[in-house]
Amino acid sequence: MLMPFIRRNIVERLLALKNGSVKLECWQELEKSQWLPEEELRAIQWQCLQTLLNAAYTGNTFYRQRFEAAGITPDMISTPDDLRRLPILTKEEIRAAGPSMLSQGFEVENLQQAKTGGSTGRSLELYYTEECSERRNGCAWRHDRWAGWQPGEPVAACWGNPMLPKTVKEWLQHWLVQPILYLDTMSVNDDAVRSFVSQWHRMKPTLLFGHAHSLYLLACYLKKLNIIGLQPKGIISSSMMLIPSERQVIEETFGVRVIDRYGCEEVSLIACECERHEGMHLNIDHLFIEFIGEDGQPAAAGEPGKIVVTDLINTAMPFIRYQVEDVGIPTDRRCSCGRGLPLMEGLAGRVADFLVKPDQTRVAGISLIENTLTRFTGLDQMQIVQHALLDFEMRLVVGPTYTEEVGRELITYWKSVFSEDAQIRLVLLDAILPEQSGKFRFSICHVK
Ligand SMILES: [Zn+2]
Repeated sequence: MLMPFIRRNIVERLLALKNGSVKLECWQELEKSQWLPEEELRAIQWQCLQTLLNAAYTGNTFYRQRFEAAGITPDMISTPDDLRRLPILTKEEIRAAGPSMLSQGFEVENLQQAKTGGSTGRSLELYYTEECSERRNGCAWRHDRWAGWQPGEPVAACWGNPMLPKTVKEWLQHWLVQPILYLDTMSVNDDAVRSFVSQWHRMKPTLLFGHAHSLYLLACYLKKLNIIGLQPKGIISSSMMLIPSERQVIEETFGVRVIDRYGCEEVSLIACECERHEGMHLNIDHLFIEFIGEDGQPAAAGEPGKIVVTDLINTAMPFIRYQVEDVGIPTDRRCSCGRGLPLMEGLAGRVADFLVKPDQTRVAGISLIENTLTRFTGLDQMQIVQHALLDFEMRLVVGPTYTEEVGRELITYWKSVFSEDAQIRLVLLDAILPEQSGKFRFSICHVK
């Protein structure tokens, strides 16, 4: 294919020269570093962490105060245990601090700005340098290639509120730099899917990416409309948990394995499966990642822990020990691909999406939903809302094999998990819509 070659080797290089961008350089470094032994990668990571801590201590008032409140200085931090003497950074604290979290020498006007969607409907404002952004883009290329895609090849995306090119200049950039075909997940219907498919055959994207559940919905539409023949080289599911039953439908429909990826707007890519699918490689080139158990200590291998990340490349607005509000499962296993990047088993869900039992134990809503979807027939989609400890609303999109009997059995099953006294209301809907961010929430818990 000539155009991808031209985009990758000529257009991107010219752009990098014109803008002074570090993307290509960073990508090439990361392509090499992924094969370094884990010990070497961890040594480099620790050096970067110490540089960041020193810079934050000397040039960032927000963090200077946190160091002083904890009674430590960067030179007292020489192990991961020492690092835990610094407090965890929460979304609330970031929201309260705003631009006062910026390091000295950085002004809002000269930085790139992003806003998170925010599952609770409240967003965070984020700032980073152009260089940080380009490094993240370079990193994304490395991980996109794990799906078989090559830079410059067209991409298809299932995304909410896509940014479509409007001006001639934007169209030219779209065609010359990175052609992207979108399926807008905020308005998916038969016609939208048919139009997506006809554009697909024109553009021939080699990579399909999107939120896990959006990819699943696309696969369901293709099945329903008897559309076959969409065969990307790879599929990347990102931003939310990929549940096994949905993964199976996506893989059957497209005939390729899905690469599961995890990241967030705040720190970009956190972990990603490689072509071996033996766990998710942690992005320790750009992040220091901790898994913290309920007792505040590191979670053991195989045990779920809250994911806490330190961003090693955002010098403008440092994120040090930031709690992402997701739960992941660390592991000591190594991947057979030979990359030195360590693994995590996978995600266990979002902190906010864990449901609460009367004895206060927490259940990953997404796992329960996965069990329910595989146990009962006729359920296309479901979402559970726990309004109070014993008050549940179960939202369902059902198929032709659903009966009232299934509904009764569903209630019995959920009572067996929570309590015989639980009130469970079934609400049948035509569709369950994603949030503004494009993410679907399988469970919503209002119990504090
Ligand atoms: Zn691997």
